[in-house]
Amino acid sequence: MMDHSQSHLDGAEFLTAETKGLGEPHGPAMLGQTAEKSYQGNTAVQRSIPYFQDWREAASLIKTYGLANLDQSLVEFERNLSAKGATVLWARDAAEANRHVLEIVREHNVRRVVKAKSMVSEEIELGHVFESVGVHSRETDLGEYIVQLNQQRPPHIVTPAIHLSAADVGRLFTEKLGEPYTEEHAKLTDIARRHLREEYLQADLGVSGCNFGIADTGTLVIVENEGNAGLSTAAPPVHVALIGIEKVLPGIRYLPQFLNLLARSGTGQKLTTYTHLIHGPAPGKKLYVILLDNGRTNVLADPRAWRALHCIRCGLCLNSCPVYRRAGGWAYGWTYMGPIGAILTPHLVGLKEAGKLPFASSLCGACGEVCPVKVDIPHQLVHLRHRAVNEPSPMNSLSERLLWRVWAFFMAGPLRYKLMFTGVRIGVRLSKFLPWHPGKLGAWTRGRALPEVPKGSFRGWWKKQKS
Ligand code: SF4
Repeated sequence: MMDHSQSHLDGAEFLTAETKGLGEPHGPAMLGQTAEKSYQGNTAVQRSIPYFQDWREAASLIKTYGLANLDQSLVEFERNLSAKGATVLWARDAAEANRHVLEIVREHNVRRVVKAKSMVSEEIELGHVFESVGVHSRETDLGEYIVQLNQQRPPHIVTPAIHLSAADVGRLFTEKLGEPYTEEHAKLTDIARRHLREEYLQADLGVSGCNFGIADTGTLVIVENEGNAGLSTAAPPVHVALIGIEKVLPGIRYLPQFLNLLARSGTGQKLTTYTHLIHGPAPGKKLYVILLDNGRTNVLADPRAWRALHCIRCGLCLNSCPVYRRAGGWAYGWTYMGPIGAILTPHLVGLKEAGKLPFASSLCGACGEVCPVKVDIPHQLVHLRHRAVNEPSPMNSLSERLLWRVWAFFMAGPLRYKLMFTGVRIGVRLSKFLPWHPGKLGAWTRGRALPEVPKGSFRGWWKKQKS
Protein backbone atom coordinates (compact mmCIF):
# COMPACT_ATOMS: atom_id res chain seq x y z
CA MET A 1 0.00 0.00 0.00
CA MET A 2 1.15 3.52 -0.68
CA ASP A 3 2.32 5.56 2.25
CA HIS A 4 1.10 9.13 1.87
CA SER A 5 1.24 9.88 5.54
CA GLN A 6 4.75 11.24 5.83
CA SER A 7 4.63 14.50 3.91
CA HIS A 8 2.99 16.06 0.93
CA LEU A 9 4.25 14.99 -2.44
CA ASP A 10 5.85 17.25 -4.98
CA GLY A 11 3.11 19.30 -6.61
CA ALA A 12 5.48 20.09 -9.47
CA GLU A 13 5.10 16.52 -10.66
CA PHE A 14 1.70 15.51 -11.89
CA LEU A 15 0.96 11.83 -12.21
CA THR A 16 4.32 10.32 -11.40
CA ALA A 17 4.62 6.63 -10.70
CA GLU A 18 4.58 7.49 -7.01
CA THR A 19 1.48 9.66 -7.08
CA LYS A 20 -0.90 8.02 -9.48
CA GLY A 21 -2.28 5.58 -6.96
CA LEU A 22 -1.39 2.42 -8.79
CA GLY A 23 -0.25 1.00 -5.45
CA GLU A 24 -3.88 0.08 -4.85
CA PRO A 25 -4.90 -2.88 -7.02
CA HIS A 26 -8.39 -1.61 -7.80
CA GLY A 27 -7.98 1.97 -6.57
CA PRO A 28 -8.06 3.96 -9.81
CA ALA A 29 -11.00 1.99 -11.29
CA MET A 30 -12.99 2.19 -8.06
CA LEU A 31 -12.34 5.91 -7.78
CA GLY A 32 -13.39 6.56 -11.37
CA GLN A 33 -16.64 4.63 -11.00
CA THR A 34 -17.60 6.25 -7.71
CA ALA A 35 -16.75 9.75 -8.89
CA GLU A 36 -18.81 9.25 -12.06
CA LYS A 37 -21.76 7.94 -10.02
CA SER A 38 -21.60 10.93 -7.65
CA TYR A 39 -21.35 13.31 -10.58
CA GLN A 40 -24.43 11.80 -12.24
CA GLY A 41 -26.41 11.78 -8.99
CA ASN A 42 -25.47 15.25 -7.77
CA THR A 43 -25.93 17.00 -11.10
CA ALA A 44 -29.35 15.31 -11.44
CA VAL A 45 -30.26 16.82 -8.05
CA GLN A 46 -29.03 20.22 -9.27
CA ARG A 47 -31.09 19.92 -12.46
CA SER A 48 -34.19 18.97 -10.50
CA ILE A 49 -34.29 22.51 -9.04
CA PRO A 50 -35.81 24.77 -11.71
CA TYR A 51 -34.14 27.86 -10.29
CA PHE A 52 -30.80 26.26 -9.54
CA GLN A 53 -28.96 28.62 -11.89
CA ASP A 54 -30.42 31.58 -9.96
CA TRP A 55 -29.13 30.05 -6.72
CA ARG A 56 -25.67 29.74 -8.24
CA GLU A 57 -25.73 33.31 -9.44
CA ALA A 58 -26.89 34.58 -6.05
CA ALA A 59 -24.23 32.57 -4.20
CA SER A 60 -21.54 33.84 -6.53
CA LEU A 61 -22.64 37.45 -5.95
CA ILE A 62 -22.72 36.96 -2.18
CA LYS A 63 -19.22 35.52 -2.26
CA THR A 64 -18.02 38.40 -4.39
CA TYR A 65 -19.53 40.86 -1.93
CA GLY A 66 -18.14 38.92 1.03
CA LEU A 67 -14.62 38.81 -0.36
CA ALA A 68 -14.70 42.50 -1.24
CA ASN A 69 -15.47 43.22 2.42
CA LEU A 70 -13.44 40.41 3.92
CA ASP A 71 -11.18 42.70 5.96
CA GLN A 72 -14.15 44.12 7.87
CA SER A 73 -15.92 40.75 8.15
CA LEU A 74 -12.85 39.10 9.69
CA VAL A 75 -12.51 41.79 12.33
CA GLU A 76 -16.23 41.58 13.13
CA PHE A 77 -16.04 37.79 13.27
CA GLU A 78 -13.15 37.95 15.73
CA ARG A 79 -14.87 40.60 17.87
CA ASN A 80 -18.16 38.69 18.13
CA LEU A 81 -16.53 35.35 18.83
CA SER A 82 -14.18 36.82 21.43
CA ALA A 83 -17.11 38.50 23.17
CA LYS A 84 -18.59 35.04 23.73
CA GLY A 85 -15.40 33.71 25.31
CA ALA A 86 -13.63 32.11 22.35
CA THR A 87 -9.94 32.77 21.73
CA VAL A 88 -9.32 33.84 18.14
CA LEU A 89 -5.82 33.38 16.74
CA TRP A 90 -4.49 34.50 13.37
CA ALA A 91 -2.07 32.42 11.34
CA ARG A 92 -0.14 33.86 8.41
CA ASP A 93 0.92 30.40 7.23
CA ALA A 94 0.88 26.71 8.08
CA ALA A 95 3.86 26.98 10.41
CA GLU A 96 2.19 29.68 12.49
CA ALA A 97 -1.09 27.74 12.65
CA ASN A 98 0.77 24.66 13.83
CA ARG A 99 2.66 26.72 16.43
CA HIS A 100 -0.68 27.94 17.82
CA VAL A 101 -1.98 24.38 18.04
CA LEU A 102 1.18 23.18 19.79
CA GLU A 103 0.93 25.98 22.34
CA ILE A 104 -2.66 24.92 23.06
CA VAL A 105 -1.47 21.31 23.35
CA ARG A 106 1.16 22.35 25.90
CA GLU A 107 -1.14 24.64 27.85
CA HIS A 108 -3.83 21.99 28.27
CA ASN A 109 -1.44 19.06 28.61
CA VAL A 110 -3.04 17.30 25.66
CA ARG A 111 -2.17 13.65 25.07
CA ARG A 112 -5.04 12.48 22.86
CA VAL A 113 -6.84 14.28 20.03
CA VAL A 114 -9.93 13.51 17.97
CA LYS A 115 -10.18 15.21 14.59
CA ALA A 116 -13.29 15.88 12.59
CA LYS A 117 -12.81 16.16 8.84
CA SER A 118 -10.91 19.32 7.95
CA MET A 119 -9.19 20.16 4.69
CA VAL A 120 -7.35 23.00 6.44
CA SER A 121 -5.81 20.55 8.91
CA GLU A 122 -4.68 18.49 5.90
CA GLU A 123 -3.33 21.66 4.31
CA ILE A 124 -1.16 22.46 7.33
CA GLU A 125 -0.33 18.77 7.85
CA LEU A 126 -1.44 18.91 11.44
CA GLY A 127 -1.55 15.13 11.79
CA HIS A 128 2.23 14.96 11.32
CA VAL A 129 2.74 17.77 13.80
CA PHE A 130 0.82 15.82 16.47
CA GLU A 131 2.81 12.73 15.57
CA SER A 132 6.11 14.62 15.90
CA VAL A 133 5.34 15.61 19.51
CA GLY A 134 3.98 12.21 20.51
CA VAL A 135 0.32 13.23 20.66
CA HIS A 136 -2.10 10.51 19.60
CA SER A 137 -4.54 11.92 17.03
CA ARG A 138 -7.44 10.02 15.54
CA GLU A 139 -9.49 10.97 12.48
CA THR A 140 -13.18 10.43 13.19
CA ASP A 141 -14.89 10.95 9.83
CA LEU A 142 -15.43 7.37 8.62
CA GLY A 143 -13.61 7.90 5.32
CA GLU A 144 -10.74 9.76 7.01
CA TYR A 145 -10.57 7.07 9.71
CA ILE A 146 -10.22 4.42 7.01
CA VAL A 147 -7.49 6.24 5.09
CA GLN A 148 -5.65 7.01 8.33
CA LEU A 149 -5.68 3.30 9.27
CA ASN A 150 -4.51 2.60 5.73
CA GLN A 151 -1.67 5.16 6.16
CA GLN A 152 -2.81 7.17 3.18
CA ARG A 153 -3.79 10.70 2.33
CA PRO A 154 -7.38 11.29 1.22
CA PRO A 155 -7.64 11.23 -2.59
CA HIS A 156 -10.90 13.26 -2.54
CA ILE A 157 -11.94 16.34 -0.57
CA VAL A 158 -15.44 15.11 0.31
CA THR A 159 -15.22 11.32 0.15
CA PRO A 160 -11.78 10.41 1.46
CA ALA A 161 -12.09 6.63 0.98
CA ILE A 162 -13.55 6.89 -2.54
CA HIS A 163 -10.87 4.54 -3.92
CA LEU A 164 -11.68 1.64 -1.58
CA SER A 165 -14.45 -0.93 -1.81
CA ALA A 166 -16.32 -2.36 1.18
CA ALA A 167 -14.23 -5.51 0.78
CA ASP A 168 -11.01 -3.43 1.01
CA VAL A 169 -12.33 -1.81 4.20
CA GLY A 170 -13.33 -5.19 5.64
CA ARG A 171 -9.82 -6.53 5.11
CA LEU A 172 -8.33 -3.37 6.59
CA PHE A 173 -10.46 -3.62 9.75
CA THR A 174 -9.43 -7.24 10.14
CA GLU A 175 -5.76 -6.42 9.71
CA LYS A 176 -5.61 -3.24 11.82
CA LEU A 177 -8.40 -3.67 14.37
CA GLY A 178 -8.52 -7.47 14.63
CA GLU A 179 -12.23 -7.51 13.74
CA PRO A 180 -13.89 -10.46 11.96
CA TYR A 181 -14.05 -9.89 8.19
CA THR A 182 -17.23 -8.39 6.78
CA GLU A 183 -18.13 -6.30 3.79
CA GLU A 184 -21.58 -5.33 4.99
CA HIS A 185 -21.78 -1.56 5.20
CA ALA A 186 -23.83 -1.50 8.42
CA LYS A 187 -21.44 -3.87 10.19
CA LEU A 188 -18.37 -1.94 9.03
CA THR A 189 -19.91 1.29 10.30
CA ASP A 190 -20.69 -0.41 13.58
CA ILE A 191 -17.08 -1.50 14.02
CA ALA A 192 -15.80 2.02 13.34
CA ARG A 193 -18.38 3.50 15.72
CA ARG A 194 -17.37 1.13 18.52
CA HIS A 195 -13.67 1.95 18.19
CA LEU A 196 -14.25 5.68 17.80
CA ARG A 197 -16.49 5.97 20.89
CA GLU A 198 -13.46 5.13 23.03
CA GLU A 199 -11.44 7.82 21.27
CA TYR A 200 -14.03 10.54 21.98
CA LEU A 201 -14.23 9.56 25.64
CA GLN A 202 -10.46 9.68 26.12
CA ALA A 203 -9.67 12.77 24.02
CA ASP A 204 -8.27 15.92 25.67
CA LEU A 205 -8.73 18.00 22.54
CA GLY A 206 -11.08 18.05 19.54
CA VAL A 207 -9.99 19.57 16.23
CA SER A 208 -12.43 20.51 13.50
CA GLY A 209 -12.55 22.50 10.32
CA CYS A 210 -15.33 24.92 9.55
CA ASN A 211 -17.53 25.16 6.49
CA PHE A 212 -18.46 28.76 7.14
CA GLY A 213 -17.77 31.49 9.65
CA ILE A 214 -20.45 34.11 10.21
CA ALA A 215 -19.20 37.60 10.97
CA ASP A 216 -22.30 39.35 12.30
CA THR A 217 -23.14 36.64 14.83
CA GLY A 218 -19.67 35.23 15.51
CA THR A 219 -20.75 31.71 14.53
CA LEU A 220 -18.87 28.65 13.33
CA VAL A 221 -20.86 26.46 10.95
CA ILE A 222 -19.95 22.81 10.48
CA VAL A 223 -21.97 20.50 8.24
CA GLU A 224 -21.64 16.72 8.38
CA ASN A 225 -23.53 13.45 8.08
CA GLU A 226 -22.04 11.14 10.66
CA GLY A 227 -22.25 13.02 13.94
CA ASN A 228 -18.51 12.71 14.39
CA ALA A 229 -17.92 16.46 14.10
CA GLY A 230 -20.54 17.03 16.81
CA LEU A 231 -18.82 14.56 19.11
CA SER A 232 -15.30 15.78 18.30
CA THR A 233 -16.21 19.38 19.08
CA ALA A 234 -18.40 18.73 22.12
CA ALA A 235 -16.92 15.75 23.96
CA PRO A 236 -13.33 16.90 24.73
CA PRO A 237 -12.77 19.83 27.12
CA VAL A 238 -10.95 21.86 24.45
CA HIS A 239 -12.02 22.52 20.85
CA VAL A 240 -9.74 23.99 18.18
CA ALA A 241 -11.54 25.11 15.02
CA LEU A 242 -9.43 25.76 11.93
CA ILE A 243 -10.88 28.03 9.28
CA GLY A 244 -9.50 29.52 6.06
CA ILE A 245 -10.14 33.26 6.05
CA GLU A 246 -12.16 33.09 2.82
CA LYS A 247 -14.83 30.99 4.57
CA VAL A 248 -16.13 33.94 6.59
CA LEU A 249 -19.48 35.24 5.33
CA PRO A 250 -20.63 38.74 6.31
CA GLY A 251 -24.02 37.75 7.75
CA ILE A 252 -26.11 34.80 8.94
CA ARG A 253 -28.83 35.69 6.43
CA TYR A 254 -26.57 34.44 3.63
CA LEU A 255 -26.02 31.02 5.17
CA PRO A 256 -29.11 29.15 3.84
CA GLN A 257 -28.07 29.95 0.28
CA PHE A 258 -24.82 28.05 0.77
CA LEU A 259 -26.30 25.20 2.82
CA ASN A 260 -28.72 24.58 -0.06
CA LEU A 261 -25.91 24.45 -2.60
CA LEU A 262 -23.27 22.61 -0.60
CA ALA A 263 -25.30 19.52 0.32
CA ARG A 264 -26.88 19.15 -3.11
CA SER A 265 -23.59 19.51 -4.97
CA GLY A 266 -21.44 17.61 -2.47
CA THR A 267 -23.55 14.60 -1.60
CA GLY A 268 -26.81 15.00 -3.51
CA GLN A 269 -28.73 15.69 -0.29
CA LYS A 270 -31.14 18.55 0.35
CA LEU A 271 -29.33 19.18 3.60
CA THR A 272 -26.65 17.28 5.44
CA THR A 273 -27.82 15.27 8.44
CA TYR A 274 -26.26 17.69 10.91
CA THR A 275 -25.64 21.42 10.67
CA HIS A 276 -23.81 22.64 13.77
CA LEU A 277 -23.87 26.33 14.61
CA ILE A 278 -21.32 26.99 17.33
CA HIS A 279 -21.68 30.41 18.90
CA GLY A 280 -18.95 30.12 21.53
CA PRO A 281 -17.46 27.68 24.04
CA ALA A 282 -19.82 25.45 26.02
CA PRO A 283 -19.83 26.21 29.79
CA GLY A 284 -16.59 25.07 31.40
CA LYS A 285 -14.92 24.36 28.04
CA LYS A 286 -12.38 26.18 25.90
CA LEU A 287 -12.79 27.16 22.26
CA TYR A 288 -9.91 28.34 20.08
CA VAL A 289 -10.51 29.52 16.52
CA ILE A 290 -7.51 29.72 14.20
CA LEU A 291 -7.97 31.91 11.13
CA LEU A 292 -5.58 30.76 8.41
CA ASP A 293 -4.28 32.85 5.54
CA ASN A 294 -1.53 30.64 4.06
CA GLY A 295 -1.49 32.40 0.68
CA ARG A 296 -5.17 33.30 0.47
CA THR A 297 -4.56 37.06 0.56
CA ASN A 298 -2.26 36.64 -2.46
CA VAL A 299 -5.10 34.94 -4.31
CA LEU A 300 -7.45 37.72 -3.26
CA ALA A 301 -5.05 40.32 -4.62
CA ASP A 302 -4.91 38.69 -8.07
CA PRO A 303 -7.73 40.09 -10.25
CA ARG A 304 -7.72 36.97 -12.45
CA ALA A 305 -7.63 34.49 -9.59
CA TRP A 306 -9.62 35.72 -6.61
CA ARG A 307 -12.80 33.89 -7.63
CA ALA A 308 -11.07 30.66 -6.65
CA LEU A 309 -11.85 31.78 -3.09
CA HIS A 310 -15.57 31.35 -3.80
CA CYS A 311 -15.03 27.62 -3.44
CA ILE A 312 -17.13 25.91 -0.78
CA ARG A 313 -15.31 22.55 -1.20
CA CYS A 314 -18.28 20.56 -2.44
CA GLY A 315 -16.03 18.33 -4.55
CA LEU A 316 -18.31 18.28 -7.58
CA CYS A 317 -15.67 19.63 -9.93
CA LEU A 318 -13.49 16.64 -9.02
CA ASN A 319 -16.26 14.19 -9.84
CA SER A 320 -16.97 15.93 -13.14
CA CYS A 321 -13.35 15.96 -14.28
CA PRO A 322 -12.25 13.24 -16.76
CA VAL A 323 -8.63 13.74 -15.73
CA TYR A 324 -9.33 13.40 -12.00
CA ARG A 325 -11.49 10.33 -12.55
CA ARG A 326 -8.60 8.52 -14.16
CA ALA A 327 -5.65 9.97 -12.31
CA GLY A 328 -7.13 10.13 -8.80
CA GLY A 329 -6.39 12.67 -6.10
CA TRP A 330 -2.84 11.67 -5.18
CA ALA A 331 -1.68 12.45 -8.71
CA TYR A 332 -1.97 16.16 -7.90
CA GLY A 333 0.52 15.73 -5.07
CA TRP A 334 -1.13 18.19 -2.73
CA THR A 335 -4.04 18.59 -0.31
CA TYR A 336 -6.43 20.07 -2.87
CA MET A 337 -6.86 17.99 -5.97
CA GLY A 338 -8.88 17.90 -9.16
CA PRO A 339 -9.77 21.12 -11.01
CA ILE A 340 -10.02 23.23 -7.86
CA GLY A 341 -6.66 21.86 -6.69
CA ALA A 342 -5.12 22.63 -10.08
CA ILE A 343 -5.94 26.33 -9.65
CA LEU A 344 -5.75 26.70 -5.87
CA THR A 345 -2.47 24.89 -5.24
CA PRO A 346 -0.33 27.00 -7.63
CA HIS A 347 -1.75 30.11 -5.97
CA LEU A 348 -1.13 28.83 -2.46
CA VAL A 349 2.31 27.33 -2.92
CA GLY A 350 3.54 29.14 -6.04
CA LEU A 351 4.00 28.22 -9.68
CA LYS A 352 7.56 27.13 -9.09
CA GLU A 353 6.26 24.34 -6.89
CA ALA A 354 3.03 23.46 -8.65
CA GLY A 355 3.31 24.94 -12.15
CA LYS A 356 2.43 21.66 -13.85
CA LEU A 357 -0.98 21.33 -12.23
CA PRO A 358 -2.85 23.80 -14.51
CA PHE A 359 -1.86 21.55 -17.40
CA ALA A 360 -3.57 18.56 -15.78
CA SER A 361 -6.82 19.31 -17.56
CA SER A 362 -8.42 18.71 -20.92
CA LEU A 363 -10.15 22.12 -20.62
CA CYS A 364 -13.46 20.43 -21.39
CA GLY A 365 -15.18 22.95 -19.11
CA ALA A 366 -17.27 20.44 -17.10
CA CYS A 367 -15.88 21.76 -13.79
CA GLY A 368 -16.95 25.33 -14.51
CA GLU A 369 -20.43 24.20 -15.58
CA VAL A 370 -21.21 22.30 -12.38
CA CYS A 371 -19.57 24.54 -9.78
CA PRO A 372 -22.38 25.75 -7.48
CA VAL A 373 -20.61 29.04 -6.77
CA LYS A 374 -19.47 29.66 -10.32
CA VAL A 375 -15.72 29.47 -9.88
CA ASP A 376 -14.42 30.13 -13.41
CA ILE A 377 -12.04 27.18 -13.27
CA PRO A 378 -11.36 26.73 -17.02
CA HIS A 379 -10.45 30.42 -17.43
CA GLN A 380 -8.22 30.28 -14.40
CA LEU A 381 -6.47 27.19 -15.75
CA VAL A 382 -5.69 29.03 -18.99
CA HIS A 383 -4.53 32.10 -17.05
CA LEU A 384 -2.23 29.96 -14.90
CA ARG A 385 -0.87 28.16 -17.95
CA HIS A 386 0.01 31.52 -19.45
CA ARG A 387 1.79 32.49 -16.25
CA ALA A 388 3.50 29.12 -15.92
CA VAL A 389 5.24 29.50 -19.29
CA ASN A 390 6.28 33.08 -18.60
CA GLU A 391 7.37 32.90 -14.97
CA PRO A 392 9.76 30.60 -13.12
CA SER A 393 8.03 27.23 -13.12
CA PRO A 394 8.66 23.66 -14.24
CA MET A 395 6.99 24.66 -17.53
CA ASN A 396 9.50 27.41 -18.15
CA SER A 397 12.79 25.52 -17.96
CA LEU A 398 15.70 26.24 -20.29
CA SER A 399 15.03 23.08 -22.32
CA GLU A 400 11.32 23.98 -22.63
CA ARG A 401 12.15 27.51 -23.80
CA LEU A 402 14.76 26.23 -26.27
CA LEU A 403 12.32 23.70 -27.64
CA TRP A 404 9.69 26.36 -28.35
CA ARG A 405 12.26 28.73 -29.87
CA VAL A 406 13.31 26.03 -32.29
CA TRP A 407 9.64 25.25 -33.02
CA ALA A 408 8.88 28.94 -33.63
CA PHE A 409 11.89 29.23 -35.94
CA PHE A 410 10.76 26.36 -38.16
CA MET A 411 7.14 27.47 -38.17
CA ALA A 412 8.06 30.98 -39.33
CA GLY A 413 8.21 30.26 -43.09
CA PRO A 414 7.16 27.61 -45.65
CA LEU A 415 10.72 26.62 -46.49
CA ARG A 416 11.68 26.13 -42.86
CA TYR A 417 8.45 24.23 -42.27
CA LYS A 418 9.24 21.92 -45.18
CA LEU A 419 12.78 21.43 -43.93
CA MET A 420 11.56 20.53 -40.46
CA PHE A 421 9.12 17.89 -41.64
CA THR A 422 11.63 16.40 -44.07
CA GLY A 423 13.94 16.11 -41.04
CA VAL A 424 11.18 14.59 -38.93
CA ARG A 425 10.34 12.01 -41.60
CA ILE A 426 13.98 10.99 -41.90
CA GLY A 427 14.31 10.93 -38.10
CA VAL A 428 11.26 8.70 -37.64
CA ARG A 429 12.49 6.29 -40.30
CA LEU A 430 15.95 6.12 -38.75
CA SER A 431 14.51 5.64 -35.25
CA LYS A 432 13.42 2.14 -36.26
CA PHE A 433 17.08 1.14 -36.36
CA LEU A 434 17.78 2.51 -32.89
CA PRO A 435 17.07 -0.14 -30.26
CA TRP A 436 17.68 2.20 -27.31
CA HIS A 437 15.37 4.40 -25.33
CA PRO A 438 17.39 7.41 -24.26
CA GLY A 439 17.12 8.87 -20.75
CA LYS A 440 13.82 10.42 -19.76
CA LEU A 441 12.55 10.03 -23.31
CA GLY A 442 12.80 6.26 -22.85
CA ALA A 443 9.82 6.28 -20.50
CA TRP A 444 7.78 7.68 -23.37
CA THR A 445 9.24 5.74 -26.30
CA ARG A 446 9.02 2.34 -24.60
CA GLY A 447 5.24 2.40 -24.43
CA ARG A 448 4.63 3.81 -27.91
CA ALA A 449 5.09 2.77 -31.51
CA LEU A 450 5.73 5.51 -34.00
CA PRO A 451 3.36 5.62 -36.97
CA GLU A 452 4.45 4.53 -40.41
CA VAL A 453 5.83 7.49 -42.32
CA PRO A 454 4.34 7.91 -45.82
CA LYS A 455 6.81 7.91 -48.66
CA GLY A 456 6.10 11.42 -49.88
CA SER A 457 4.85 14.57 -48.21
CA PHE A 458 1.25 15.76 -48.27
CA ARG A 459 2.31 18.78 -50.36
CA GLY A 460 3.95 16.47 -52.91
CA TRP A 461 0.83 14.30 -53.03
CA TRP A 462 -1.35 17.38 -53.48
CA LYS A 463 0.78 18.68 -56.33
CA LYS A 464 0.50 15.34 -58.09
CA GLN A 465 -3.30 15.33 -57.75
CA LYS A 466 -3.54 18.76 -59.32
CA SER A 467 -1.24 18.05 -62.24
S1 SF4 B 1 -14.59 24.83 -7.21
FE1 SF4 B 1 -16.82 24.73 -7.17
S2 SF4 B 1 -17.28 22.61 -7.76
FE2 SF4 B 1 -15.12 22.65 -7.16
S3 SF4 B 1 -15.10 22.08 -5.00
FE3 SF4 B 1 -15.17 24.33 -5.11
S4 SF4 B 1 -17.34 24.83 -5.01
FE4 SF4 B 1 -17.23 22.68 -5.52
